[in-house]
Amino acid sequence: MASLDTYTCNECGTAFKSMAGANAAEAGYCSPACETEGKGL
Ligand SMILES: [Zn+2]
Repeated sequence: MASLDTYTCNECGTAFKSMAGANAAEAGYCSPACETEGKGL
């Protein structure tokens, strides 16, 4: 059973669930689009 934690997206502020240690959790973004925006790429 995977444990999901709730994180808040650094870009849009949306609360999202992700597995601890997953890329999304590590980066702190709810989606690749937000990650792109957040990093200013
Ligand atoms: Zn987001």
